Amino acid sequence: MRVNIGEIKDIKGGEIQFRLAEDWSELDLDGRSVHCVSPVVFTGRVIATGEVFLVRGTVVTDIETTCARCLSPVRVSVKADVDERFRMAPYGGGAAAASDLADEDDDWQEEDVREFRGLTIRLDDVVLENLLVSLPIKVLCREGCRGICPQCGKDLNAGDCGCTIDDINPRMAELAQLLNQQD
Ligand SMILES: [Zn+2]
Ligand SMILES: [Zn+2]
Repeated sequence: MRVNIGEIKDIKGGEIQFRLAEDWSELDLDGRSVHCVSPVVFTGRVIATGEVFLVRGTVVTDIETTCARCLSPVRVSVKADVDERFRMAPYGGGAAAASDLADEDDDWQEEDVREFRGLTIRLDDVVLENLLVSLPIKVLCREGCRGICPQCGKDLNAGDCGCTIDDINPRMAELAQLLNQQD
C-alpha cells in the first residue's frame, strides 16, 4: 500500500486523496490467528504542510477470529483511524535539517515522524499498526454464547451435553444425606 506524493511535494497545503485496497488474507495478524477475510481498504488523504506530510484516513476490513467462549469462527468488521506524519528522508548529512524541523514546531516530537525515500510513502506499517490496536480484545459468536462444556468439550449452544457439573455434586450429596437422615 503506497501513495505517491510527487504532485504536492513542493506545494504547501497541497492535498492528495486516495483509496487503496489490498488483499491481506495471507497475513496472520499479531500471531493471534486473526485473519482479514475482506480486502483492507484505506481511504484518506495526504496533506503537505511544508514541514511534513500528514496522512489521515480510515482503514476498514473484516476479520475472522475465534469466539472467546466456544472457539467457533467469528467474523467482525474492524475500523481504524490513521493520523500519521511523514517526511522525506534527508539525502546524506541531513541531520541538521531534521533538528531544525523539530525546533520549528513543538506540537509534535521528532520520533513521531516517519521517514520515506523518493516520492512514495509506504503505508503498510502504519495501516497494520493501527489495525492491530483496533482489534477487539474479546469477540463472542453471539450474545450470550454458552461456550463449551469444561468436562466433555461439547458446544453447549448446540444443546446440553448431560454432564453433571462438579461443583453441584457436593451440595447434592449433602442434601441427599439430610433427606436420608430424616427417613
Ligand atoms: Zn461462541
Ligand atoms: Zn459435557
